[in-house]
Amino acid sequence: MMISEKLRSQEAIELEDKYGAHNYHPLPVVLSRGEGVYVWDAEGKQYYDFLSAYSAVNQGHCHPKIVGAMVNQAQTLTLTSRAFYNDKLGVYEQYITNYFGFDKVLPMNTGAEAVETALKICRKWAYEKKGIAENEAQIIVCDGNFHGRTTTIISFSNDENARKNFGPYTAGFIKIPYDDTEALEKALTSSQNVAGFLVEPIQGEAGVYVPSEDFLAKAQALCAAHNVLFIADEVQTGIARTGSLLAVCGNCNCEKSCEKQATYVQPDILILGKALSGGAYPVSAVLANDAIMNVIKPGQHGSTFGGNPVAAATAIAALEVVEEEGLAANARRLGQLFRDLLQEYVTESNIVTLVRGKGLLNAIVINDTEESETAWNICVKLAENGLLAKPTHGNIIRFAPPLVMTEEQLRDCVAIIIKTLKAFEPEL
Ligand SMILES: *Cc1c(COP(=O)(O)O)cnc(C)c1O
Repeated sequence: MMISEKLRSQEAIELEDKYGAHNYHPLPVVLSRGEGVYVWDAEGKQYYDFLSAYSAVNQGHCHPKIVGAMVNQAQTLTLTSRAFYNDKLGVYEQYITNYFGFDKVLPMNTGAEAVETALKICRKWAYEKKGIAENEAQIIVCDGNFHGRTTTIISFSNDENARKNFGPYTAGFIKIPYDDTEALEKALTSSQNVAGFLVEPIQGEAGVYVPSEDFLAKAQALCAAHNVLFIADEVQTGIARTGSLLAVCGNCNCEKSCEKQATYVQPDILILGKALSGGAYPVSAVLANDAIMNVIKPGQHGSTFGGNPVAAATAIAALEVVEEEGLAANARRLGQLFRDLLQEYVTESNIVTLVRGKGLLNAIVINDTEESETAWNICVKLAENGLLAKPTHGNIIRFAPPLVMTEEQLRDCVAIIIKTLKAFEPEL
């Protein structure tokens, strides 16, 4: 019976509202099942997922190979802590370092933890290898960054909502505009104490800002020239999302990282999370070569769950799926198609001013103020029409479906998006 079934979603919302901290403002949709590019709500309505849990579910919901590996390991051994060795971690460490072309990995759980880890490694390297005086190290970050929610990370955010009243803030960060190599060079030359440059290859949370074609390569060269570590936060852009295995791989759509392509920018420290487990389990990683990673010695950093056998088994399966199913190439091809189809509409639209992105990390900008409710209302309507997306920063809507999508599904989704947007076009 519909009425009693309807209560299920309403009840779930009321429970979260009553008993959960209000640190999120979700769309009023209660999801209870997922498979591939689809999720279903508590009443059984089917949706295309165009958020993919902020790009954690690149391999699609409940991928049988990933879930299989996770369940199998969960029934065998879940957690040993790093007080002992386990028989999965080394295998995973070998696999992931080969996969991305680094000497070593430091396993953590969440993206924010991995960013914190990278910052700590960078500082330690600065004091022990570069010779910066104690407590003087500076790390350059970009305006509009999003690197997570810890007290140190929000210290260098410029989202007031993320920052305000969480002080005192961690010192040691220099902020420059994104996609601005002149500002980077100035910051690098202004001080002898710069240790690293932390950057998102595309700013996802900020609204999918794709930098100039040569920004990453130039930034890396500048960092190298100043003996400063180039730290790429690929928590959101990595694992095939932008049409290459990593966004720093540039215009190559092979499924593995390598140094063969002219466009590849090798970071000194690479930060991964989200889709590293295909959204099945919290798994993050920091990769670097020995000269950097070896500054970390026993007792200096760690995590009870980091590198646990379930995480190791799940992440291997998730990375295998990316390669086996050609997800980078699919993201590249479908992303281009998505932007081409939407661009046709944008040209004649009054409600959308532009579509931008790379691979299947895209966004549209709504022709209204950041404070307006229009983007939110469009997302509510999209949900009614069977497609889930969420505004980021008021008037921007991010579109990031699982990368296992087919062309037919993508065309269906574009039709839903355009139909929905048309209902918001101002009357002529
Ligand atoms: C999501 C995200 C993080 C933080 O990851 P959590 O798992 O939420 O802590 C860090 N950096 C970027 C670029 C992200 O998109």
